[in-house]
Amino acid sequence: MKELEKLILEKGKVLEGNILKVDSFLNQQIDISMMKKMGIEFANHFRDKNIDRILTVESSGIAPAVFAAEELNCKCVFARKQKSLTLDDNIFHSTVYSFTKQVMKEIIVSKEYLKENENVLLIDDFLANGQACKGMIALCNQAGANVSGIGIVIEKSFQDGRKLLKEEGYDVFSLAKIKEFKDGKVIFEED
Ligand code: 5GP
Repeated sequence: MKELEKLILEKGKVLEGNILKVDSFLNQQIDISMMKKMGIEFANHFRDKNIDRILTVESSGIAPAVFAAEELNCKCVFARKQKSLTLDDNIFHSTVYSFTKQVMKEIIVSKEYLKENENVLLIDDFLANGQACKGMIALCNQAGANVSGIGIVIEKSFQDGRKLLKEEGYDVFSLAKIKEFKDGKVIFEED
């Protein structure tokens, strides 16, 4: 998505540890008009999959997920992150290694909001090593829901996430694909 690439080049900052900071439009301040366009892109790609629900993880996946859900006219739910294991019969939970914070976190979603046989689209802000997506897949598996696709705003293609998810057969659709960070600059994959 060329407009997103342009925004990343204008506003993104490459930090140590292969982290891209995009606080000005995605990770803190939200660029609503951009989110709306991203929602349309996701919806156009996954429209024929009969999506019942979008699942994301708090917090930065929520904005793109909401706009995609509006376009697909489906439900939208976010998994909550927390530090320690919760013993509760009414939730699905999974453990995820956080790339940016370098700690294990539990992600949970209420059994009320993820149901058997639903077609679920996963959405997240970044794809690095695929751990957040793997955690969401685990939640869907516990519910008996079908993972119908994975929508990512910014994929760092030089990390392992895409390979891992593709190997498991998932349709991974990313709006911007970063090939590498070179001398502090973002280089995108060619179309
Ligand atoms: P993964 O689970 O695929 O290893 O990493 C994806 C998760 O880590 C995303 O949910 C995102 O919050 C965070 N993340 C990974 N890489 C970056 C990055 O370069 N910048 C930001 N802002 N978040 C990232």
